[in-house]
Amino acid sequence: MPNRTQDLVDLEDKFGTHNYHPLDVVIERAEGVWVYDVDGKRYLDCLAAYSAVNQGHCHPRILRTLLDQAGKITLTSRAFRNEQLPLFCKELHELTGFDKVLPMNSGAEAVETAVKAARKWGYKVKGIPRDKAEIIVCAGNFHGRTVTVISFSSEDQYKDGFGPFTPGFKIVPFGDIEALRNAFTPNTCAFLFEPIQGEAGIVIPPTGYLREAAEFCKQNNALLMADEIQSGLGRTGKLFAYMHEGITPDVLIVGKALAGGFYPVSAVLASAEVLGVFHPGDHGSTFGGNPLGCAVARTALRVLIEEKLVERSAELGGYFRARLQALDSPVVKEVRGRGMWIGIELTALARPYCEALKEEGILCKETHDHVIRIAPPLIITREEIDWALERIAKVLGK
Ligand SMILES: *Cc1c(COP(=O)(O)O)cnc(C)c1O
Repeated sequence: MPNRTQDLVDLEDKFGTHNYHPLDVVIERAEGVWVYDVDGKRYLDCLAAYSAVNQGHCHPRILRTLLDQAGKITLTSRAFRNEQLPLFCKELHELTGFDKVLPMNSGAEAVETAVKAARKWGYKVKGIPRDKAEIIVCAGNFHGRTVTVISFSSEDQYKDGFGPFTPGFKIVPFGDIEALRNAFTPNTCAFLFEPIQGEAGIVIPPTGYLREAAEFCKQNNALLMADEIQSGLGRTGKLFAYMHEGITPDVLIVGKALAGGFYPVSAVLASAEVLGVFHPGDHGSTFGGNPLGCAVARTALRVLIEEKLVERSAELGGYFRARLQALDSPVVKEVRGRGMWIGIELTALARPYCEALKEEGILCKETHDHVIRIAPPLIITREEIDWALERIAKVLGK
């Protein structure tokens, strides 16, 4: 490793907590789909910060908003109103069709907020007996890292050493409608799911599963809660992944690309009936709905729509996936995905291939040992995809 990279890796290893195992590339700056390390080497970013930078790194319009707003007012707390929050809520409503918005910061906080909303709705509206509410979730889920959220993870490592856990969750296999039906009881207040499981390795459920799940939730008066923190905002070639199935969730959780990678902004969207269960003092966040985050998110959403990034994701993602599927490789088991969200499942461990791709100038990250996730910013061009394909073919090909 070059000196500056090695020095910084050593420094981080010495003073930082080792709760990640990053590739040893130390990034200093970025522009669009390209990132540059401290030794000046250029890489194509095929992770896009887990889809938080769908709009591309350091998008000039979002940067302008960040700088302008930072010079005006950054934080009021919700003790007072600010001029950006109402516009953020209105624009998110106009874009998504959901009546109410509850802004938070990280994705995990938004999931926690959705869990609280579903439980309270269960007691106040559905009439579930006190402390009996149940939420059904899917095996292989990823919804964040707080204690309550890992309480319903099926991943041993996420839970090991962190108990005792929050009760009230039932895990069913993803994509199995019978298992979902059997898990329902009169105390079920919600079904929480990712329309496509990202961290599990871009796992797409069987066609019709989500439609049947939606129908079953409706029949049983339970909330359909979609976590689209990673799958949403254009990643899969639709504004939200649930749109591929022609369903509409009762609760939609968004984050990551909501602020284009400039700022942590998340939100829970739902009807007035659901979010109406919150009254002043029931829930809150010092930074949630702050004017800087709201201003940045407003521009990030506008960029997504005005630059037609959702359409680009569908078109160029389809091209990228088809070319990968045509790749002649002894290690590729399957290439799957939707839009610009592609999983390459290998017959071998993915990490060494990610290391090799890094040497070729492509940054991607293995997920669940055997899958390489390809998820570049949605502004990627066909030429850049071709550039990547050449190198991916060299690493994975015969
Ligand atoms: C990233 C992610 C989260 C957690 O978001 P954080 O901002 O890291 O807390 C939750 N759900 C899904 C589907 C995610 O991809």
